[in-house]
Amino acid sequence: ARVQPSRLDLDALRSWPLPAVDDTADKEARGRVLVIAGSREVPGAAVLAATAALRAGAGKLAIATAASVAQHMAFAMPEARVIALPETADGGFDERGIAGIERAVQAARCVLVGPGLMDAKATCRFVAALAPLLKGRGVVLDALAMDAAPHLGRFEEPVLLTPHAGEVAHLTGCDKDEVLADPERAAREAAQRWNAVIAVKGARTVIADPDGRAWLHEGGNAGLATSGSGDTLAGAIAGLCARGAGLVQACAWGVVLHAQAGERLAAQRAPVGYLAREIPDAMLQVLRDLQ
Ligand code: AMP
Ligand code: MG
Repeated sequence: ARVQPSRLDLDALRSWPLPAVDDTADKEARGRVLVIAGSREVPGAAVLAATAALRAGAGKLAIATAASVAQHMAFAMPEARVIALPETADGGFDERGIAGIERAVQAARCVLVGPGLMDAKATCRFVAALAPLLKGRGVVLDALAMDAAPHLGRFEEPVLLTPHAGEVAHLTGCDKDEVLADPERAAREAAQRWNAVIAVKGARTVIADPDGRAWLHEGGNAGLATSGSGDTLAGAIAGLCARGAGLVQACAWGVVLHAQAGERLAAQRAPVGYLAREIPDAMLQVLRDLQ
């Protein structure tokens, strides 16, 4: 019989504090995050993720994005250093661009790949080719970057994947309804299969790690089911990891902060209709009130 998953809520976060921030610390102390995301058609996903990473407390931000939108992104996100990547016709990154981000990867404490990418095949190749460079970094794969899951053996350390039920179904070839019926089982199986930390997202979110540990979160509200929402979650997790949390802790904190942000926005604005771009600021309010 499997061990009951631990419940995630605000009290769980209070008893699992983030690494302390020293008053005299510089921005390097809270770590660099590199967001590899955004295509010509969906550049905003990178902005959403990057904003959430800084709101979560990352010290420094770099974005590697589609060359066609890189300059626009630099103005949309004045806090970022923006690196242009060569694109494929279908909205992915050409793996030959990896040489141009090698140093940024090495400088990052956490690397997030995936939000807004469109070309599954190219993205899969890109992530597989990037894998050897990622040793020693926290790695979060979201959206189409998760299609590289069969290549995760190339990663030396566990990475985090953040699929919703439909993505789990796509990745494992099972039925979405099966995942929704038992997200815990889906998360545990995927964690074993890929030696990765998996967060199966939804109204119930289950995090499972390859050691057999699992966490359950229930909460948030239906307004979180909106375009760009998952990008802010992935970004927040990457930001928490950059500031010093381990992948599992960053994921647990990100899931609770994101859901709490949704509850606040539902109360302040309306149950549905708030925007993903409003989530990072609400997450910051939750973080402030926790401290
Ligand atoms: P994505 O589908 O990648 O945009 O991610 C959607 C995000 O919203 C995930 O973090 C889900 O956990 C969250 N979410 C979606 N629907 C609900 C819901 N009904 N209640 C609470 N959270 C939700
Ligand atoms: Mg998503």
